Amino acid sequence: MPKGGQGASLESMNLIDLHTHSTASDGTLSPAALAAEAARAGLAAVALTDHDTVEGLPEFLSAARPDGPELVPGVEISTQRPGGGPMHLVGLWVDPHDPGLSEGLAWMQQARLERNPKIAAKLQGLGLDITLEEVAALASGQVGRPHFAQALVEKGLVNNTSEAFSRYLKRGAPGYVEKERMSPEQALSLIRGAGGLPVLAHPALLEMSPAVLEALLLRLKEHGLEALEAHYSQHDAAQVRSFKGLAARLGLAVSGGSDFHGANKPDIRLGVGMGTLRAPKELLAGLKERLT
Ligand code: AMP
Ligand code: FE
Ligand code: FE
Ligand code: ZN
Repeated sequence: MPKGGQGASLESMNLIDLHTHSTASDGTLSPAALAAEAARAGLAAVALTDHDTVEGLPEFLSAARPDGPELVPGVEISTQRPGGGPMHLVGLWVDPHDPGLSEGLAWMQQARLERNPKIAAKLQGLGLDITLEEVAALASGQVGRPHFAQALVEKGLVNNTSEAFSRYLKRGAPGYVEKERMSPEQALSLIRGAGGLPVLAHPALLEMSPAVLEALLLRLKEHGLEALEAHYSQHDAAQVRSFKGLAARLGLAVSGGSDFHGANKPDIRLGVGMGTLRAPKELLAGLKERLT
């Protein structure tokens, strides 16, 4: 019986997924269900990296099984990108009980609490019949824009999540409210302070020119960045190659993950993304050797 049992292919036993979300942020699987799903998929390792929270990690880690995947406690912190908009830093192997990290994340949750009523007010101002209470009832962890999207869909005000974002919720749309975020340097220091390994998430989504991205990475590296998420659901083969090359040139390790959100991003599957993601388990050694 192969590791992971039914449904696990020989290939997935050699794959890892170091970027996923649970119900503690905006995913639809509980942390324990996520660990179980990774075991069913036969992954060698999976990291839980919820947005701006470590609340799901104790449940996640307690779902470890001797014959299951290695479970990596993580977090994904949304920082203020130079020039505006978000830039996401993933921290792998963070200590869920680190007081400095908890304090930093509590500050971010406060920023969310202040933002959500403003989003609700903007949507109401657009004539949409939607309340913050209805939205909050859909979340079991933190409330964010995906829950606003879900509420808009469930009330028949839009056809689907992507329409909810494009018409109302995305940056620049009429229901968008900017969120106060910490600087990348602060996030790097929080992650390192909690014993974690900082990774720049989904670099292609930054839509930077190669030269600008390289300069950014060099600056972040001076502040403790250790790795680049070259393997990602939305990176094509040429991008994966180019980000791997960039990481090698700059002395960064390579990470990879799907950004699995369960039913909130139905086209993304654990471990394989939209079908072509392949983050090999050999990456683990290169990441771990940088943990101090
Ligand atoms: P928030 O942290 O509340 O600003 O919400 C950010 C989350 O919204 C991201 O992690 C995604 O899961 C989701 N999201 C952002 N843009 C889109 C989009 N265009 N379509 C679907 N989901 C999106
Ligand atoms: Fe998300
Ligand atoms: Fe992200
Ligand atoms: Zn993510």
